[in-house]
Amino acid sequence: MRLVMLGLPAAGKGTQGRLLSERYGIPHVSTGSMFRDAMRAQTDLGRRTRAFIETGELVPDGLAVEIVEERLKKDDCRRGFLLDGFPRTVEQAESLEVTLAKMNISLDAAVNIQISEAEAIRRIANRRVCAQCSSTTQVTPGGAEVCDECGGPLVQRPDDNEETARNRLLVYLAQTQPVVDFYRKRGLLVPVNGLQPVEKVFAQIIQRLSRLDLPKRANGNGRATGITGVMS
Ligand code: AMP
Repeated sequence: MRLVMLGLPAAGKGTQGRLLSERYGIPHVSTGSMFRDAMRAQTDLGRRTRAFIETGELVPDGLAVEIVEERLKKDDCRRGFLLDGFPRTVEQAESLEVTLAKMNISLDAAVNIQISEAEAIRRIANRRVCAQCSSTTQVTPGGAEVCDECGGPLVQRPDDNEETARNRLLVYLAQTQPVVDFYRKRGLLVPVNGLQPVEKVFAQIIQRLSRLDLPKRANGNGRATGITGVMS
């Protein structure tokens, strides 16, 4: 299964991406996480991307395309992959198409998790990340700021502050929304209602993906087989 996840910030791309990657046995490739890791490790990539990420702007297309291309060449992507946070511009979507064509493969679907802008703002304000295990959760005002999974301390992502978050929404609407139309025109768009509980969103995605015409791609238990059939 080869997927991209689309949706406003905090729509649930990361959460659903993790669940889907487990379900299909494919790597969850998050460009945002790769950039944050590079910033933490203070690599050259981290230094070149920090200012964009801290202000909620997109990092230049060239950098995003390069790290994704490198990642897709790794062996674990041969069975499929899930891209979370990429492509974010039509230029990135076009580059991805060219890269995949060179590899003789194509995407199966672009899952678009739909939530309102008001809901995105509410979720971003309440979003916390575990400093220990990196899992993401929603907190209620005054609630415990401790991770349910591992008991680690919960922190707010620096780019989840109100000003940066508002800019990320504007950037999404201006630069990433056209990517939704890009995939709609190619018949790859799978829209899902992101305003439901996590399990229901997941069930809806699985149900819609199971209806795709992927005859030889997955075996009975839904796990990828490594057969690289190409869907038109
Ligand atoms: P995310 O974790 O997906 O919300 O991404 C966090 C930030 O990383 C974004 O606000 C952008 O600054 C940057 N970023 C992540 N993916 C991309 C991409 N495909 N193109 C450009 N910038 C990106």
